[in-house]
Amino acid sequence: MNQKKLTIVVPAYNEEPVIEKTTTVLTNILKKLINENQISANSTLLYVDDGSKDRTWEMIGELHNGNSMITGIKFAHNAGHQNALIAGIETAQDSDYIVTIDADLQDSPEAIIEMVHQANEGKDIVFGVRNNRDSDTWFKKNSAGLFYKIMGFLGVEEIPNHADFRLIDKRVTKAFLQYPEREMYLRGIFPQLGFNQGEVYYARTERQAGESKYPLSKMLSLAIDGITSFSVKPIKMIRNVGLLVALIGLLYLAYSVVGKMMGHNITGWTSIVTSIWLLGGFQLIALGIVGEYIGRIFTEVKHRPRYFIEEKKL
Ligand code: UDP
Ligand code: MG
Repeated sequence: MNQKKLTIVVPAYNEEPVIEKTTTVLTNILKKLINENQISANSTLLYVDDGSKDRTWEMIGELHNGNSMITGIKFAHNAGHQNALIAGIETAQDSDYIVTIDADLQDSPEAIIEMVHQANEGKDIVFGVRNNRDSDTWFKKNSAGLFYKIMGFLGVEEIPNHADFRLIDKRVTKAFLQYPEREMYLRGIFPQLGFNQGEVYYARTERQAGESKYPLSKMLSLAIDGITSFSVKPIKMIRNVGLLVALIGLLYLAYSVVGKMMGHNITGWTSIVTSIWLLGGFQLIALGIVGEYIGRIFTEVKHRPRYFIEEKKL
């Protein structure tokens, strides 16, 4: 008998339209793996209801009553996708393997089988990597590509086309739980943990039902979190631009002093107005970027709890 316990962690925010289908598909995967003797019989599905406003939690309760394999915790408020994942991992930290997957089943549940096989052969982390972006909108495809380029340039190690679909074993879970920061960017943290890493490729499909819970604003804030929590390069770039501008200023000073001594009169205000606006703009951008980091320090220093669990069905 295989004694490796697997918990599949599923964050769910207003996922009423998909929850039943998702439960059926994922419990079938669990059953299959148990029958193949790949995982232990007490493996479970763990929903993390991220403060849903619809009937998601009631439905999880009903599913739990009908099948003890299905468990759940419910946040008292909407704490966000990343926090839901962290809470799931914390709750399931005694499992040998934890797989995280979105509730809408856009990531192929079949890939979980391959992840477990790789884990049983000694991998500690198995990343789910999309081999196409056909199901994405033009905008999402291109913005994602640009984002990976920027991240690479800023020196952040990331696995392109990998989101939060992955398997981690207990060693990795223990290492991960030592990260104390409040604002976490999980897909940046896991690759840098090291250990023995593997990848599983799959085609990402359309959402089963319901709408995306990631509007542009949430995508942007995740991207900014990703950059500012892993790289201080933007601040260094500001310093360099500042040095360059100061140097130009000095040259200009020398130029005008010499001009004055040679009796030239300064004509026109174009150059003055241009530099005022240009420099003003640079300064505001610079302040904004520095502010972004100070904002992060502010949130980290407060050390507020990441989430509150209101109810548990374990
Ligand atoms: N999600 C969450 N809290 C939120 C937003 C999303 O827990 O505030 C969950 C959501 O239920 C889903 C996963 O995060 O399981 C990914 O969201 P979604 O599929 O809407 O994002 P997309 O695939 O469109 O990027
Ligand atoms: Mg989705």
